[in-house]
Amino acid sequence: MNRPNTAAVLEGQNPYGMASGTTSEESAPRLREGTAVAFDRAAARLGGRTIWSDLTLSVARGEFVAILGPNGAGKSTLIKAVLGLLPLATGRVSVLGRPPGEANHRIGYLPQRRNFDAGTRIRGVDIVKLGLDGARWGIPIPGLPRRAREAARVAEVIELVGATGYARKPIGELSGGEQQRLLIAQALVRRPELLVLDEPLDSLDLPNQAAVAALVQCICRDENVAVLLVAHDINPILSYIDRVVYIAGGTAIEGSPEEVISSETLSRLYGAPIEVLRASDGRLVVVGQPEAPFVHGGRHAHD
Ligand code: ADP
Ligand code: MG
Repeated sequence: MNRPNTAAVLEGQNPYGMASGTTSEESAPRLREGTAVAFDRAAARLGGRTIWSDLTLSVARGEFVAILGPNGAGKSTLIKAVLGLLPLATGRVSVLGRPPGEANHRIGYLPQRRNFDAGTRIRGVDIVKLGLDGARWGIPIPGLPRRAREAARVAEVIELVGATGYARKPIGELSGGEQQRLLIAQALVRRPELLVLDEPLDSLDLPNQAAVAALVQCICRDENVAVLLVAHDINPILSYIDRVVYIAGGTAIEGSPEEVISSETLSRLYGAPIEVLRASDGRLVVVGQPEAPFVHGGRHAHD
């Protein structure tokens, strides 16, 4: 149970907002204050090594939080802790008011991904439908069969991500940005309360990174979904996010982008001199970061 599929929402039964009143989840208390994720002095260990420790963080419903940091810092490890795939070494985490792993059916999850091969024939609309697998969702409406309700929801999320024009094409023929929109639609199709996106911008060019970040912000606001988005570069997402969690040097710091992406904070976190400059258009330029963004240029395919 609760296994993440490739680019899929998690297994479960009863998505948010469409409850039929028949599952035990229904009787569970929901968090009153709208906290989606709360870490309290948490530490994660892998292979006998502490990846990060002393991590305290809370994410509210309707809040868009970026998780930043260099490769290997433990960003995906944080996601695994949220999904209950990795028990914490110390501390606590609560996810949608439950211990991690227990509310995974209320989470839309997009794992770190690869591009679809150009020969992949499955259509975008079918990729989105995969997100419904195993779901018993929808308020039973007399005269409207389940398949019709599902088709309506699939069409709705495809419209929401702006993919209606190409959703019936084979996914392998679409650009990286178009593919990513459809995968986000898949993660949304069951109305998650928490959206967890692990490097969804990774294979996109800069304009598409900003476009997808803008889309995620709209979803976050319009559907009151808490969003955790792992990203590599702050700039394409800077104007869309509410807060930043920056993981480096075995711990994490959180705050507004301005607070976190500062010379002082990042130098302390990295243990190396980092200079943060603000360009006239408001963008933050990080100088001296141990890992240069161009390292990833070779992966910006399909756009
Ligand atoms: P990020 O997503 O920030 O690039 P990860 O969370 O994937 O980093 O990994 C954090 C660290 O944990 C890395 O140094 C990685 O090599 C290590 N790691 C990941 N998985 C395992 C594992 N199963 N056993 C031991 N170490 C691991
Ligand atoms: Mg990762």
